[in-house]
Amino acid sequence: MENATKCIHAGYQPKNGESRMIPIIQSTTFKYDTSEDMGKLFDLEASGYFYTRLQNPTNDMVAGKICALEGGTAAMLTSSGQAANFFATFNIAQNGDHIVASSSIYGGTFNLFNVTMRKMGVDFTFISPDASDEEIQAAFKPNTKAVFGETIANPALTIFDIERWAKIAHKNGVPLIVDNTFATPINCRPFEWGADIVTHSTTKYLDGHDATVGGCIVDSGKFDWMAHAEKFPGLCTPDESYHGITYATKFGKEGAFITKCTAQLMRDFGSIQAPMNAYLLNLGIESLPVRIKQHCANGQAVAEFLASHKNVAWVNYPGLKGNKYYELAQKYMPNGTCGVVSFGVKGGRKTAEKFMKNLKLAMIATHVADARTCVLHPASATHRQLTDEELVACGVGPDMVRFSCGIEATEDILADLKQALEAI
Ligand SMILES: *Cc1c(COP(=O)(O)O)cnc(C)c1O
Repeated sequence: MENATKCIHAGYQPKNGESRMIPIIQSTTFKYDTSEDMGKLFDLEASGYFYTRLQNPTNDMVAGKICALEGGTAAMLTSSGQAANFFATFNIAQNGDHIVASSSIYGGTFNLFNVTMRKMGVDFTFISPDASDEEIQAAFKPNTKAVFGETIANPALTIFDIERWAKIAHKNGVPLIVDNTFATPINCRPFEWGADIVTHSTTKYLDGHDATVGGCIVDSGKFDWMAHAEKFPGLCTPDESYHGITYATKFGKEGAFITKCTAQLMRDFGSIQAPMNAYLLNLGIESLPVRIKQHCANGQAVAEFLASHKNVAWVNYPGLKGNKYYELAQKYMPNGTCGVVSFGVKGGRKTAEKFMKNLKLAMIATHVADARTCVLHPASATHRQLTDEELVACGVGPDMVRFSCGIEATEDILADLKQALEAI
């Protein structure tokens, strides 16, 4: 089945007389006839629902849809993309462990890894996505438990060479985790290139309407935990909090990762997505393939327009011929990358601010990747504490504008850009 069809039908097939839309099971708890029945759920001997802090049927239907889109074997929703990346890494790396991560990742994820998870005793080495095989290999340590990267990095728009990084991760006996937020499974399916776990901030294109914050973790079911049992005691030795079950043997390669993540991390941290939000997310996903086409068409048109404008100093868009990542983008995302374009306005910070004020259709917002075109000047917003020198050092020049194309008519977005650039 094609992904466009899965976006409508996967995750929920109504039986005779049932609602066509997925039901919102807005209930904290679930009723059982006997304590025995319920006991089996607590022991992970039977699958079912008892308390929404761990699992909820609406959430699982939507997770099932994303799982099908990515071609995975198990998936779970989380309350945010941050929670998804935290759970996906912390599920296999604990105090004393180490993770190799691409340095070109979302700022929130970088902070989670570099500050908060370090406080929990998980160490990270950040490596350029363009590093040579030898440089990546040199970052591994005996206690390395995973490799992490972003398909299309937000906001740097670098393309992660999934196949190459997966090979190196596997040579070292650890899984590759890929944050596929910007590409979405419509444009790239990281499992087909060797990734083992995929994460999403569903807040972006998957929801796509600026309506809900959420996240998702999907397991490919391909990583053989037992073959590297000494590295993954959490999956390969008995969990005493569940009467000594061993996830990797009881749930196999297909189910161990997500079951452990639900049974331990969701149980203890409770970063569950509200069922109502999962319902709204599902609505967004239904139109994802149609919307992504328009986001990409707009991104491409905007990038080409800006590249030929006299008031624009530079343009960064992986779909633009001559871009450093053009070839990698063609390999992994032949149908398009995303709707986000970054560029520099000639004249630096002052002119960039003026240009932003001139925009009429594009709204100033810290968000990206939804139906409404929005724009951000990082130097005067998310990165405003930094000096011009510090801005350049972290790849966010004072003239940089991040432009996220929505799904409005291309002509209207271009006309808005044109008048705003002309008036500076
Ligand atoms: C936004 C984003 C996140 C964080 O997701 P939230 O839903 O905001 O918590 C993680 N990764 C990427 C690539 C993002 O763009």
